[in-house]
Amino acid sequence: MKQNGTLLNTQPNKESQENESMKVSPILDDAHKIDLIENKFREIMEIMGLDLTDDSLIDTPKRVAKMYVKEIFSGLNPANKPAVTLFENKYQYKEMLVEKDITFYSNCEHHFVPIIGKAHVAYIANSHVIGLSKINRIVEFYAKRPQVQERLTVEIANEIKSLLNTEDVAVVIEADHLCVSSRGIKDVNSDTTTAQFSGKFEEAGTKNEFLTYIGK
Ligand SMILES: [Zn+2]
Repeated sequence: MKQNGTLLNTQPNKESQENESMKVSPILDDAHKIDLIENKFREIMEIMGLDLTDDSLIDTPKRVAKMYVKEIFSGLNPANKPAVTLFENKYQYKEMLVEKDITFYSNCEHHFVPIIGKAHVAYIANSHVIGLSKINRIVEFYAKRPQVQERLTVEIANEIKSLLNTEDVAVVIEADHLCVSSRGIKDVNSDTTTAQFSGKFEEAGTKNEFLTYIGK
């Protein structure tokens, strides 16, 4: 892995968990949001002196508005939360289950430029297990919001905990922030790692087994 990584532990107190999730007010429907953003984005382009009659630019405001609402910020709409089917843990599988290298694309809420990373998620099953592709979908849902990496880590962990009714969940995220690598100090070698370990993953043995699986 690259050098200069920072490890931030996002271990929350129990009381603060509520506050760590993003507050989203779903006041407008998607079509209304797209219309408004299209108009505002056109204004931004005009202020920057761009020629909105240019063939190549004429549809950009609409394109950006749709992309914001339907794609890169679709996780702001609670209706897009993935429906998750749980399966009975028939085999009484009691070891950790690790889903690693889940690629995600998010955007930093401070600069609105991409955060590109990988999430590694593990849990120890109780009575139920979750379809593996659903873990990817949960990561994607929370990534598709204006984010900070610490909150993304906690939101994913909290969702898996509440779905599976277990505290035994670990999430590690490694990401490149384009606001760091492409602007400002232009540090192209740094990446940021965040982690949350709960329940049995707070024990050194279990935590290290997980970190070994993900090659850390
Ligand atoms: Zn940023």
